[in-house]
Amino acid sequence: MVTKNLLQCDGCGQLASPEHIAKRLERLEWTTRYRPVHIGTLLLGAAAPSEDAEFLYSPDGAFAGEAGAVLAVAGVSASGKAADAVLAEFQRTGFLLTYVMECPLDNENVLQAELSSRIPALVARVRRSMRPKRLVPISGDLQPLTRELQVLDLGCPIVLDGDKPFAIGDAAAAEHLRQALTAASASAR
Ligand SMILES: [Zn+2]
Repeated sequence: MVTKNLLQCDGCGQLASPEHIAKRLERLEWTTRYRPVHIGTLLLGAAAPSEDAEFLYSPDGAFAGEAGAVLAVAGVSASGKAADAVLAEFQRTGFLLTYVMECPLDNENVLQAELSSRIPALVARVRRSMRPKRLVPISGDLQPLTRELQVLDLGCPIVLDGDKPFAIGDAAAAEHLRQALTAASASAR
């Protein structure tokens, strides 16, 4: 049996190799280091990126792709700073980035089904552990789940770009999100 060494991964629900589980724990540890005590804005991606360079909390500090877009939305500049200084600043602003599926997904064809299956685990994490002031979906891949997220009791409001997630890879959507967050933090005072 090839499955004998596989364990169910709590980050993605897939049957996974020991290497996969180790990588999941590493990402969790990197993230926990910069988790705010009180989470203001929980940014929600679809699935963790497969490259560490695009994983925001990776200590290599490449801040490539999505990681760079997330920093820009939070108004944090990485220029000329060490990775830990950048991530500490992101943490101080009350932001945390998490994913519906906390591991990369090899097969993009099953993304929607996999994301959907992870919703109950997400709701439990948000309600019991993270308790953010607001949740902001930041991936266009979350569009089909938006209705479902809205009717679930997450314990906090969901901030949307009209009726869609903020696809922050797009400059206009990222700007909309910056404006929405400025308004939200002003009204929270
Ligand atoms: Zn996993």
